[in-house]
Amino acid sequence: MGYEELLERAYKLLPKKVMEPSRFEMPKVKVEYHGKATLITNFKAIASQLRRDVKHLARFFSKEFATSVSIEGERLRLKGRIGISALQKKLEDYVNTYVLCPMCKKPDTHFTEMYGVTVLKCEACGAINPVPEL
Ligand SMILES: [Zn+2]
Repeated sequence: MGYEELLERAYKLLPKKVMEPSRFEMPKVKVEYHGKATLITNFKAIASQLRRDVKHLARFFSKEFATSVSIEGERLRLKGRIGISALQKKLEDYVNTYVLCPMCKKPDTHFTEMYGVTVLKCEACGAINPVPEL
């Protein structure tokens, strides 16, 4: 076996260091309208996909759309008719603020308290960033 061949073999044995791109997939809201109410029918599924408390996510929607909301089983009911693209946009705002790590953009994060403020702690890179209170 020649040197070149040995070298090639050695390279093949090296562990491939792969920089994993973020595999995060943005959830999509599913919406229905009942009279003057808007229902996000997959609300609970979205919260669990994001690993966030359904009440926290509901509070965000209530605040952002300045309307009253209620959690009804799997769904979130919002008072008033809100367009699907506006809802989707707000969900993405939530994800960018309260889910994705600002340093590494991974969704492996959780809330914790530090010096009396809520921070987003990244399980992937260890970054700690304060988040707005809801
Ligand atoms: Zn991170």
